[in-house]
Amino acid sequence: MSELLDYHFALNSLLETHQPLEGEEEVALARLGGRVLARDILVQHDVPAFDNSAMDGYAISGNECDSWQVVQRIAAGDQAELALLPGQAARIFTGAPIPAGTTAVLIQENVTLDAERKVITHTVSAGEAPNVKDGQNIRRQAEELRRGEPLLARGQRITPAAIGLLSIQGYAHAPCVPQPRVTVFSSGNELVPPGQPLPPGKIYDSNRQMLSAMLQAEGFIVIDGGILPDSLEPTRQALEKAAAESDAILCSGGVSVGEEDHLKNALQQVGELTQWRLAIKPGKPITWGRIGACRVFMLPGNPVSSLVTFRQLALPALQRMAGVSVEQARPWKLMARAGFSRSKVDSRREFLRVVLENSADGFRVKPMAMQGSNMLSGAVFATALAEIPPGTKIEEGIELAVYPLADRF
Ligand code: AMP
Ligand code: MG
Repeated sequence: MSELLDYHFALNSLLETHQPLEGEEEVALARLGGRVLARDILVQHDVPAFDNSAMDGYAISGNECDSWQVVQRIAAGDQAELALLPGQAARIFTGAPIPAGTTAVLIQENVTLDAERKVITHTVSAGEAPNVKDGQNIRRQAEELRRGEPLLARGQRITPAAIGLLSIQGYAHAPCVPQPRVTVFSSGNELVPPGQPLPPGKIYDSNRQMLSAMLQAEGFIVIDGGILPDSLEPTRQALEKAAAESDAILCSGGVSVGEEDHLKNALQQVGELTQWRLAIKPGKPITWGRIGACRVFMLPGNPVSSLVTFRQLALPALQRMAGVSVEQARPWKLMARAGFSRSKVDSRREFLRVVLENSADGFRVKPMAMQGSNMLSGAVFATALAEIPPGTKIEEGIELAVYPLADRF
């Protein structure tokens, strides 16, 4: 029997041993949300593309002049055709190109016009700097982004702001890592799909729906594998078939040591089992391995164990396959104070379902009432998982590592 592995060791090895899927797809802007870049993207146009005005006001030539003759008007979208000579000015608007010869832009609030609106002088309100600074209120060409420099890095997940940035650069599509196809199975003779009558002794299957929803929210292509019976041969066949059609298999149940638990055996017969059994609570029997190129994650059947092991172990590995960088795939961790105490200690690392509360001295965590690994009702409204290291007695106010459940905010 293999030893109980430490969570952090397991997480690091999962992050290292799962690589982005090979190949790349050009994805149009409208479909890029949540996708992951397969290659670095470079700046293809300087930003700003030309020197332009940061304000509505007047472009002037000669900062030391007493007044300036207004000789032209330039709006955003216009071209600045005439150069300014010292003592001349151009009425100008935010984003409009500044004409050659411009030494500064005066904001319109600091300018007085003569009766014919032809000559301007500089007026400064109390508290403002009286001198015209060379180049003030001018956005210089390429001051933000210069052609040829990096724009977005490989492994970056595309956010709405990143879609905006690609658009600024004129990109209509971007090269992305293929989305992993994940087949999701439940396993157990007791399971009945929701919507059907429930015979005595049976329960409704909840893991398949929950895991599929989490995968979909993270941008994976989900294939419904159905419910596997507690029997070796059909399980073996179903795993082999799914391995041929998908990049990963995610199943739950049937991975303990009971004689009705066939998933590990099936995996060993058709592929290879890399690791099973972690020193964590809940989720000790979690198992992973591969069937050919298809990566396999076998989560424990109790719904909360499934939820916790998915978020803390399987999802980071799957995100690596989706192309997400190691840093971004690692579950987000912040520090918070315990808002409770508990004298009981456990030899396994625990992930308690907690609520994050805002307080004057930072975040505090309070545990949900129902902490059983079978009690999904105690996990539904949790906003984070709090990590309790092995053998730790919790005293109110001690610092704990906390993993926010991002979809709960
Ligand atoms: P197992 O790991 O198969 O022994 O399952 C552990 C517990 O989780 C048992 O009480 C199962 O009935 C329950 N369970 C397993 N799979 C599911 C599922 N898909 N939905 C709800 N409960 C499940
Ligand atoms: Mg079972």
